[in-house]
Amino acid sequence: MATRTDHVADESAMLAYGAALARDLAPDDLVFLVGDLGAGKTTLARGILRGLGFDGHVKSPTYTLVEPYEFGAMRVYHFDFYRIKDREELEYIGLDDLLGERAIKLIEWPERAFGRLPLPQRVIRIRSQGSGRVVEVQSPNGSGG
Ligand code: ADP
Ligand code: MG
Repeated sequence: MATRTDHVADESAMLAYGAALARDLAPDDLVFLVGDLGAGKTTLARGILRGLGFDGHVKSPTYTLVEPYEFGAMRVYHFDFYRIKDREELEYIGLDDLLGERAIKLIEWPERAFGRLPLPQRVIRIRSQGSGRVVEVQSPNGSGG
């Protein structure tokens, strides 16, 4: 399992870090974003989307559960399962179909998906350190970097 750990000093560094991560993603990768509220998961997702070439507004999917993006040949689904209360909400958004699509899936709070997610290509863990963050990126099957 490949793991890298980096200190990311502030929000703009987080956006740049996400953009750099985006370069190593395949067009159908599943990415877990793990960390407390306020860790920086949405910020990192924003950086990844920018790195993939999206230059519009990236809003947090906290209330909608999923925000879809389509630009050029690229498709991205950004999920946030923080507010999930029961598994029917996952049926309602058509999770299984979305997971089967050729799209990059970025998932905040994957641990709240009732075990309904396949193994990811990346697990990104974020925690606070001083005024910045520590970001750990794992590639469980040794895929990518
Ligand atoms: P989450 O989605 O994990 O709840 P957000 O991405 O909404 O967190 O970020 C929460 C706050 O943390 C925002 O104010 C954001 O600017 C800030 N932030 C993000 N990344 C960093 C960082 N690397 N260092 C310091 N602050 C950060
Ligand atoms: Mg968030």
